Amino acid sequence: METSDIKYVYFFGGGKADGNESMKNLLGGKGANLAEMAGHPNLKLPVPPGFTVTTEVCTYFYANGKKYPDILKKQIGDALSEMETLTGKKFGDLQNPLLVSVRSGARKSMPGMMETVLNVGLNDQTIKGVIAQSGDERFAYDAYRRLIMMYADVVMEKGGGLEVKHSKGIRKILDEKLEAIKHAHGYASDTDLTVEELKALVADYKKTVKKVLGIEFPEDPEEQLWGGMGAVFSSWMGKRAIEYRRIERIPEEWGTAVNVQAMVFGNLGNDSCTGVAFTRNPGTGENKFYGEFLVNAQGEDVVAGIRTPAPVNEYSKNAQSQQFESLEKLMPVQYKELFEYQSRLESHYHDMQDIEFTIERGKLYMLQCRVGKRNGVAAVRMATEMNKSGLIDGKEAIMRVNPNQLIELLLPMLDPTIEKISTIIAKGLPAGPGGAKGRVVFSSEDAVEWASKGEKVILVREETSPEDVDGMHKAQAILTTKGGMTSHAALVARGWGKCCIVGCGDLEINTEAKTFKTKNGTHIKEGDWISLNGTKGNVYEGSMPLVDIDIDKNEAYRDLMLLVDKYKTIGVRANAETPNDAIHAYKFGAEGIGLFRTEHMFYGEGSEQPLFLLRKMIVSTTEAERREALDELFVFVKKDVKETLEVMDGHPVTIRLLDPPLHEFVPHDREKLSQLGKELGIRMSVLHRRVLALHENNPMLGHRGVRLGVSFPEITEMQIKAIFEATAELLEEGKKPFPEIMIPVTCTVNELTNQKEIVDRVYEEVCQKHHMSKIPYLYGTMIEIPRAALMAETMATAADFFSFGTNDLTQMGFGFSRDDIGGFLPKYLDLKILPDDPFVTIDQEGIGELIKFGTERGRKTKPNLKVGICGEHGGDPESVKFCHRVGMNYVSCSPFRVPIARLAAAQAALEFPRGN
Ligand code: PEP
Ligand code: MG
Repeated sequence: METSDIKYVYFFGGGKADGNESMKNLLGGKGANLAEMAGHPNLKLPVPPGFTVTTEVCTYFYANGKKYPDILKKQIGDALSEMETLTGKKFGDLQNPLLVSVRSGARKSMPGMMETVLNVGLNDQTIKGVIAQSGDERFAYDAYRRLIMMYADVVMEKGGGLEVKHSKGIRKILDEKLEAIKHAHGYASDTDLTVEELKALVADYKKTVKKVLGIEFPEDPEEQLWGGMGAVFSSWMGKRAIEYRRIERIPEEWGTAVNVQAMVFGNLGNDSCTGVAFTRNPGTGENKFYGEFLVNAQGEDVVAGIRTPAPVNEYSKNAQSQQFESLEKLMPVQYKELFEYQSRLESHYHDMQDIEFTIERGKLYMLQCRVGKRNGVAAVRMATEMNKSGLIDGKEAIMRVNPNQLIELLLPMLDPTIEKISTIIAKGLPAGPGGAKGRVVFSSEDAVEWASKGEKVILVREETSPEDVDGMHKAQAILTTKGGMTSHAALVARGWGKCCIVGCGDLEINTEAKTFKTKNGTHIKEGDWISLNGTKGNVYEGSMPLVDIDIDKNEAYRDLMLLVDKYKTIGVRANAETPNDAIHAYKFGAEGIGLFRTEHMFYGEGSEQPLFLLRKMIVSTTEAERREALDELFVFVKKDVKETLEVMDGHPVTIRLLDPPLHEFVPHDREKLSQLGKELGIRMSVLHRRVLALHENNPMLGHRGVRLGVSFPEITEMQIKAIFEATAELLEEGKKPFPEIMIPVTCTVNELTNQKEIVDRVYEEVCQKHHMSKIPYLYGTMIEIPRAALMAETMATAADFFSFGTNDLTQMGFGFSRDDIGGFLPKYLDLKILPDDPFVTIDQEGIGELIKFGTERGRKTKPNLKVGICGEHGGDPESVKFCHRVGMNYVSCSPFRVPIARLAAAQAALEFPRGN
């Protein structure tokens, strides 16, 4: 198409508009919404007239050496005339001049990244007309000095590429002149300047601009307008905007639009004001109009926070604004009009809107509207209430809530109002969400001791190990300087729903002195209070208040979950370590347990006896010795399994056989070792030898998982017996237990057949003992070694189900140690070598291929093969969606992430309907 045939300029105002809301790509977000507000038959709101220069002009501008299409001049001229007709003013006129704003407006909002010029059209001549029309000389000169400052900075200096010629920016130089006058006269605010002082300031500004930048401030309104537009287009390629686009992944070719709009003034006296409002409360979601405004002020004054804004109505009053009169009281007619518009906007957009308005001498104007940002609590409430009232359907309500935001409803968090005004002393990886406060301790023992005296503590360690579990449990939160998102601390804390920050390299611990210092120079010693935001990874000094949330009382949450269950097709189970976890998981809506890690009975409270027996078993050297210990251990394993099966009555429970390398359970300090020797009646030297024999150079790839069961069949035997006996007893009690026996860390089908022989033998024995012909169970394997995924076709011959252990699959697929990734991951993410932490979000193109391949090949052998995931990824929304797409039957995640996974599963079902 010839450029002369292209429409580059879209007019809006006076109850009509060339564009509409669906044209965001061409008009940018701001331009599209202005057009919609001005021109849509349902709205036709009083928007100051103006026009949008399209993003295509931006593209043309850069493709043609910063030139414009020839036809643009005419199209802009026509649009300006329309503005003049509607406003009754004329651009550049001496009697009644039209002043305009020139603003950027990209497809996606880029707050503060691009430029704005206000009051364009003012000069030494037109100012007389502004004074005559407004009757306010002070106002006119104030507008003029603002224009010169903005224009010199945005258009002449930044847009003109003059930035580099001097060290101090022109804005700063001009600002210092204003400050000097205020200082000399003891003025507190800009508004204290007299007309004469403002006049002198304007003259000084112009002289300074010429002197510093070498060119005159342009008096010609046309030149100002084109200069302003050029500067906005140029700011698309400014350093800040480029950097922002890189982070937000906004493509460069989108370009920005430019919006030119008639100026309206909220600073023309006490019958003028400007404000920002939301159609519903963005903090709570309550369906109440909520907003703030400032009398006799400009929009930037509200945002800048120099003056405390007043509430638009009684409802919007807060501690700071109690004493102010509301807009509703001050300007009832305009408030009523505004209220009517906001409700019209929400009905029209079917979502909460964030709006900007100005009242100029009693006349209300709508300056902007867009979908308003909201927190998790508000998001859930708005979505479900809008659904109930019929504003949106159930599917839309589900899509409105970001699954990760749900966490805000589940865990106590730091009081956001206090957090906002506090200084972050260190930052780490957000491993366990929610907020916590406590006094710093540096060892698990201290955590236990302090907690037993009723102290709230935060355990600060370089990293944690299973031996720390007791202290971790007693602590309010855990903070480690090393480790990644699936390190021991992260895994354990997330499982408990405990606040945790790991990999916090900003901290340097001095274990001897029991202190730490942070990069920003803060010194903290044992007993000092700190507060953590585990959702963001932020550490604060001092004790910050927490806000508690009881999910059962949250009606909106319950409503959302009802909708979620209606649409989701993939199951959601939980990873439980104890029967107590299973209770939590059930409460959060888990449909089963996807991973029951039996070894957790050996950590924490009540673990002394089973741990002792396990240690006894480990250091045994003969089968007879081992069997003796195992027989005693059997009682504990059976109890745990039975309780969990009972909690999940009628739902499946996947019980994984012992996984970790045995040496993890052997005490490492001399004192504990000698205690063990005494209790077992073994000499220290003998015990030492046995423990040494268990040492491995690379335990993660060593004697763990199924390899233990192959080496010591009696260990498998004991566990299988415990599972079947527990199941049989529950069946006798009339319950419906469904155990699924899962073999970990397998790489060949022969391991599965080897262990299955034991299962079959014990099964017969238990059936006979309980006089049962059948005990329901499934036999399956984890797929967590890449070879197992590649061999899925044969693995499936000996398995009823697969469960992808994506923690180990990621570790072994990438060759990244899951416990040490904290050392290099931040740099990888920073340099975009990896898009995300692969231990948090499944690496779909690499590890994901193994999962896809494994699922497909497994089902080739057994079309009904049950497939799930039980790595940490099972609670990550993007990963849940991936699991849905590859056709898994369920995902399994930490109890506290079950609601998140359920919501993500429902969204996946709506985004990718199965069978398509
Ligand atoms: C896994 O590897 O993904 C898994 C669930 O097992 P674990 O984290 O216990 O190694
Ligand atoms: Mg594993």
